[in-house]
Amino acid sequence: MSAAPVTTRFAPSPSGHLHLGHAFSALFSERAARQQGGAFLLRIEDIDTTRCRPKFAQDMIEDLEWLGLTWDGAPLYQSSRNRDYAQALERLTDLNVLYPCFCTRADIKAEIAESAAAPHGPDGPLYPGLCRGLSDNEREARRARGVPHALRLDVGRAMAIAGPLKWFDQGKGEIVAQPEIFGDVVLARKDIATSYHLAVTLDDAFQQITLVTRGEDLFAATHVHRLLQALLELPVPQWHHHALLEDDSGRRLAKRHAALSLRQLRTDGKSPEELRRMAGC
Ligand code: GLU
Repeated sequence: MSAAPVTTRFAPSPSGHLHLGHAFSALFSERAARQQGGAFLLRIEDIDTTRCRPKFAQDMIEDLEWLGLTWDGAPLYQSSRNRDYAQALERLTDLNVLYPCFCTRADIKAEIAESAAAPHGPDGPLYPGLCRGLSDNEREARRARGVPHALRLDVGRAMAIAGPLKWFDQGKGEIVAQPEIFGDVVLARKDIATSYHLAVTLDDAFQQITLVTRGEDLFAATHVHRLLQALLELPVPQWHHHALLEDDSGRRLAKRHAALSLRQLRTDGKSPEELRRMAGC
């Protein structure tokens, strides 16, 4: 029996213009698919309405086309997928692994400042669990008063249900999942009805991605995604987290590096071929 063809994706967030590092990531993903006769998909991760703009999404698509990338089918916009995110949150609620968190940033900061050795994870100090132990009555009372709340994953409870998990990175091999390093992550924000972790996991399954390619800055996030896949009984892809491009002083490229945006490089007269060379592709 022949192996199923690979499907990869590039999934930028339209909160700014694409830079050279994104070009590398997109080309890496396209090549991983095409080398094996597979499919390469584009997903616009525009759930964060406080930061994303439709104009950036249009510009991204135009820049990627200019670069010569071709993806299969129409791009998927996360903003069209809210119903699925809500359904997944309902399933997780039924599993009893979510709890409402009414804390403000200031509450969390104050609690962390008071504790002598606040545990840290890849994104900074872990949520100290203030709302995890609230009684049902207290939760209802706060809801009734209209106190805004996020939904957090009770990671301890979720891991007890899922049991030990592993995942496979094509660069690093088999990895034991350690979602607890992030603590109780937010799966639905107060202002946005989902989170990066939930949306990316559901969409990779929805688009039938078999190989998730992305920068190594998101390596640790995969621990959480693997746990969500287990809880929601989603298929498990492989991953390939690639190294990140850096600027001349060794800092990784970010949207703040305006001079290395594809837009600017195009305006400066660079050709797609030169850009591919600059990205090392
Ligand atoms: N949208 C994310 C970003 O632009 C990438 C998500 C992913 O590849 O998993 O950083």
